[in-house]
Amino acid sequence: MEKELEATLQHVKEQTLDPEDWDAMRKLGHQMVDDMLQYLEHVSERPIWKPLPEKTKANIHQALPLEPQEIEDVYQDFKENVLPYPMGNIHPRFWGWVMGAGTPAAMLADLLASGMNPNMGGGEHAPNHVEATVIDWCKEMMGYPKSASGLLVSGGSMANFVALTVARNVKAGYNIREEGVHTTSRLMAYASSETHSSVQRSIEVLGLGNKSLRKIPVTPNFEIDIEQLALAIEEDRANGLQPFCIIGNAGATNTGAFDDLNALAQICKEEGLWFHVDGAFGATVAIEPSLAHLVSGMEHADSIAFDLHKWMQMPFEVGCTLIRNKEQHYKAFTLTPDYLKHGDRGLAAGELWFSDYGLQLSRGFRALKVWMSLKEHGLKKFAAIVRQNVDQALYLKDVVEASPELELLAPVPLNIVCFRYYTAGCSNEKLNAINEEIIIQLHERGIAVPTGTTISDRYAIRICITNHRTKREDLDLVVEEIIKIGRELIA
Ligand SMILES: *Cc1c(COP(=O)(O)O)cnc(C)c1O
Repeated sequence: MEKELEATLQHVKEQTLDPEDWDAMRKLGHQMVDDMLQYLEHVSERPIWKPLPEKTKANIHQALPLEPQEIEDVYQDFKENVLPYPMGNIHPRFWGWVMGAGTPAAMLADLLASGMNPNMGGGEHAPNHVEATVIDWCKEMMGYPKSASGLLVSGGSMANFVALTVARNVKAGYNIREEGVHTTSRLMAYASSETHSSVQRSIEVLGLGNKSLRKIPVTPNFEIDIEQLALAIEEDRANGLQPFCIIGNAGATNTGAFDDLNALAQICKEEGLWFHVDGAFGATVAIEPSLAHLVSGMEHADSIAFDLHKWMQMPFEVGCTLIRNKEQHYKAFTLTPDYLKHGDRGLAAGELWFSDYGLQLSRGFRALKVWMSLKEHGLKKFAAIVRQNVDQALYLKDVVEASPELELLAPVPLNIVCFRYYTAGCSNEKLNAINEEIIIQLHERGIAVPTGTTISDRYAIRICITNHRTKREDLDLVVEEIIKIGRELIA
């Protein structure tokens, strides 16, 4: 019997997902790196975007593969069907939404991170120390105390969610993790009407309901109206509601407006409220001395959310949440069953259990690209790019104001310019339709990617410059094309 078993075991050929031919894999890997660097080097020479042909879509939507294909063929498939139809955000003329352009070295860092493939949930290994270091650097960049807590997350949305979870739990006044959201008085959060949708989604997912987010009107500069805010809090208290948090904008998505963070901090202090700052892209100005005054007051926040994949140029995804009080952060998320017990010695030892500070248990090594990139360029270089983009936005504003066929639709406090093609004697409705069409044609002709937004009933071409590849000539070109397309549409 035993002999039989031994014989079978000897005939078992175990499988692995590693290549049989490491040299061939190495060759392919070198080819991929060469191709991608070539792709990045010449990005500006290609159209920024092109529509996907139906055939390409069909080529991508294949049946679930049950049998193996040569990886070389799969790569060819990628090169033919995926690579030629990008989103466009690595292109110098991409200014849609709020994006980041990525960098070659950060791309390579992602390769290294995937190669090592650590699980960043916790434990004593070097990658976790890299993340801890990156979080420390983030605190310093944001002018936050070293004693604060932090976590790298997928982006601004998750950073807001983590921070608002802590805010809710701390301010509820009872053990909300145990009891759930069953208070007699409704918890109320306050933010301006310009606040990003991710804040509302967090409030909803936290079980508070959208009615718990009071959207305060803005001033003509798109900043939260402090008087209206104070009145709203007073009114809610009088009605038996329980204010718990104010969310300040450091760079609102539509216009780049900054709320008066010092005033918000003061109200929070007087009213005993949590002060959260959504600085998804705008908080990045903290690293540039000539712009840091915009986030004055942010240092008083109980929590800050910001992205590294927007104005800090990292490839997706990486954002950061910072929480002033480490204990409060820990208490909101920690839950350690036996199988996750942190030890005193060995791999499971150490302080670095990031899974205690957010919703994710298994986590990727997104810290590496940040660690390597900050070392590669130094913080001052990133600050110079931020300044450069703001100067480019001011340049574009001047160009828009100087042109009789363009109309500026919002102030330009930072890096976002909202304007439209304009011609006298045209109804607002028609202008809206024309400007919407201009944006689509800019995309379809592969020229540039601005996106649109509506500013007081007017459809705006919105150019948000968070792109280290943009040059002024790119802005000149898009202005020229906007006027050209505008005239065509009028004619
Ligand atoms: C982009 C953005 C977010 C959301 O961040 P993601 O990284 O896209 O999840 C939140 N708030 C503001 C102000 C933003 O610009």
